[in-house]
Amino acid sequence: MTGRRITGRTVVAGVVGHPVAQSMSPILHNAWLAAAGIDGVYVPFAPDAHGFRRLAEGFRGGAVRGVNVTIPFKADALAAADKASEAARLAGAANLLLFEPDGRILADNTDGFGMLRAFAVQAPKWDAALGPVTVLGAGGAARGAVAALLLAGTPKVFVVNRTVEKAEAMAAALGQKVSPLPLNHAVGALGLSTAVINATSAGMGGAPSLDVPLDATQPACVVMDMVYKPLVTPFLQQAQDLGRTTVDGLEMLVRQAEPSFEAFYGEYPPAEVDVRELALEQLR
Ligand code: NAP
Repeated sequence: MTGRRITGRTVVAGVVGHPVAQSMSPILHNAWLAAAGIDGVYVPFAPDAHGFRRLAEGFRGGAVRGVNVTIPFKADALAAADKASEAARLAGAANLLLFEPDGRILADNTDGFGMLRAFAVQAPKWDAALGPVTVLGAGGAARGAVAALLLAGTPKVFVVNRTVEKAEAMAAALGQKVSPLPLNHAVGALGLSTAVINATSAGMGGAPSLDVPLDATQPACVVMDMVYKPLVTPFLQQAQDLGRTTVDGLEMLVRQAEPSFEAFYGEYPPAEVDVRELALEQLR
């Protein structure tokens, strides 16, 4: 960052959350900006817990080019938009808003893209369209994952959740390819799945991971955990001990940022910056 100047042409983007101080997005985006020599800056915004709408309305017309949106505002972000991508509509949430010069707010969701890119990087032989996938959880991250899988051609998604009613509500919203199951009925789904994705918050910050019998999966099944702190959760460790290919949540976090950067600053992030390593330094 040393030596970067703010000018009359500096493009401003940022991330909105409550809290926002823990977000790694400013580190990733500003490292890319510096490496690409782009006249831009990426800053955190922390409205109060009910202040998202006011903030978004204030940015209308392009006061800033756009924002990423994190917990707890992703559903508010979709509601604030005049137009939304199919990914955002299916996910029921947006993590990217663009403030157009004509006053419109455009919404997108790049979390699902980030998840699929993480699979492409860490499990390149896996193909979303080749068979059923099990998603553990029925919160916002799970719905984004299910939406992305359906758009990528996954023929069947088992949604396994502690509170089965939430999985049922997701199936009602997303259609017949989604099968809701309670946690204690996960085994049959695991055996049929080409991938198992933990989209619950269990396992975060060293808390116990979900007690799911991954030995019921096929040897070729890919196991992903969206939790990235710790990087190797007990869930991923169990999968690795069984010899399964694994995908970590940090790769998803890094990859979901790439299309946002392009949307804000007009070019794809430079490949030579090892932003995964920068993010890992933050996690240590
Ligand atoms: P959320 O909306 O609060 O949903 C939490 C989900 O976890 C619910 O399905 C909940 O089940 C389940 N859950 C929580 N604790 C559990 C436990 N002890 N046992 C069983 N189920 C449990 O959260 P979210 O926004 O979807 O986020 C979920 C996780 O994904 C978080 O850890 C988040 O950091 C991570 N995430 C990562 C990325 C990335 O880029 N890597 C992106 C987005 C999210 P109930 O419905 O039964 O309560």
